[in-house]
Amino acid sequence: MNLHDSLTRKTRRFEPLRPGRVSVYGCGPTVYDFAHIGNFRTFAVYDLLHRYLRWRGHEVDFVVNFTDVDDKTITGAAKAGRLLGEHTETFVRAFLDDAETLGFLPFSSHPRATAYLPAMVAFVERLVEQGSAYLANDGSVYYAVPSFDDYGRLSGKGGDNDAGRARIDTEDFDKRDPRDFALWKPAQPVDREVGAVWNSPWGPGRPGWHLECSVMSTSLLGDTIDIHLGGEDLLFPHHENEIAQSEAATGHAFARFWLHVKHLKVDARKMSKSLGNFHTVRELLDGGYDPTAIRWTLLSAHYRSELNFTRDGLDDATASVQRLLDFRRRVRDATEAPGDATGLAARVGEHLAAFGRALDDDLNAPRALAALWTLVREVNTALDGAGGTMARADREAVLDALAEMDAVLGVIDLAESARKVAGADEERVQALVEAREQARASRDFAAADRIREELAAEGIRLEDTPDGTRWTRVRAGP
Ligand code: AMP
Ligand code: ZN
Repeated sequence: MNLHDSLTRKTRRFEPLRPGRVSVYGCGPTVYDFAHIGNFRTFAVYDLLHRYLRWRGHEVDFVVNFTDVDDKTITGAAKAGRLLGEHTETFVRAFLDDAETLGFLPFSSHPRATAYLPAMVAFVERLVEQGSAYLANDGSVYYAVPSFDDYGRLSGKGGDNDAGRARIDTEDFDKRDPRDFALWKPAQPVDREVGAVWNSPWGPGRPGWHLECSVMSTSLLGDTIDIHLGGEDLLFPHHENEIAQSEAATGHAFARFWLHVKHLKVDARKMSKSLGNFHTVRELLDGGYDPTAIRWTLLSAHYRSELNFTRDGLDDATASVQRLLDFRRRVRDATEAPGDATGLAARVGEHLAAFGRALDDDLNAPRALAALWTLVREVNTALDGAGGTMARADREAVLDALAEMDAVLGVIDLAESARKVAGADEERVQALVEAREQARASRDFAAADRIREELAAEGIRLEDTPDGTRWTRVRAGP
């Protein structure tokens, strides 16, 4: 399997450092607000990687932190008139709920930065002792960027004549170099107000954001991890700084592969509250969209390509998911034809292999989905040709392949768990479909049309086939 590593800028063969066991750290949400759909694009890629590594037979230690102390969480708590911990807990819960709604496999752990203060202080002490960090006049401890030769290797940025130097005389006068960044910040009144103050050898204060990830990663996963993930905006300075401080502190390479997820746009524009194109998962659900369609949309583009999130795209995703579910139902309900497996079972195996190869190639989800649709088309053609019948072994091969693919995609599974909730609804639709068939059989076409219209208003399309009426959900109901 190959992954694209942002550090070497190469797509390289991936093997975990410890055979069979992969360690992954993904920068998690800053819990000052509900995570938006852009954040969830990145997190959906985490879930895809998590599922894929397990699918390929690895044990996976997958850590996704909560950034529960930084400027935004402190400001947010102060505005809400709450303590930091109370404020962030709301959004920790919301994140976990949304992740479950979108069918994420539980990650191995979700450390909160505030639970790692002693380790953070020890980490900074080590950096100060060895001359990689210094205490400035303003009471901050800064990482000394010039002490780290490799600084800038990840981003290609951060040379000492980069833009930062212009600011040195104004806000950052206590730094020795404009690129230096705070590991420890002295307590401000607002920090005290919300209870974001911890003791340290440098006085009361709080950790810097970059430090948090290095400490949680090395504490939970060891000095060197296999894969570090984040959105593309984190590459610089966040990840550059993580590398500098971690490698200086441990003397070992920090991450063997760096994966960066390209940002999601909404209606081809950068998402922003002022443009009114800012969506949270819960708003989309309130708008009638199905979690499965959201998940499908987030997974449909390659993680290094742009994903343009639109209502039309969500409608297409809704239809794609429904098509997949309808297909599975058609296969499951197919009348059993006598005889052994035909060539179909072998071809299904080939499509499953193509699906795996696509993911092996730097998680190429769109190509994996193409393999899935090829399978669907081919099996549908075979079913059409055989009057809707299928040999038992063929049917098992198809259903097994779908289940295998879904172990990575997680959409059928998610739809079915949603279905359980909506099961009553499903039965009602089925009953209406049957009532309409009866009305048609007794030539009461007006009644049949009324039912069709009623269902159409709910986003359900009927298709009359020689095998009976099939129904599909073309969009979420009102
Ligand atoms: P934050 O909560 O701001 O710390 O961000 C959490 C994660 O979401 C980070 O990995 C970000 O890089 C990522 N992220 C933020 N905005 C977007 C976006 N528009 N598209 C994809 N990922 C994003
Ligand atoms: Zn981070």
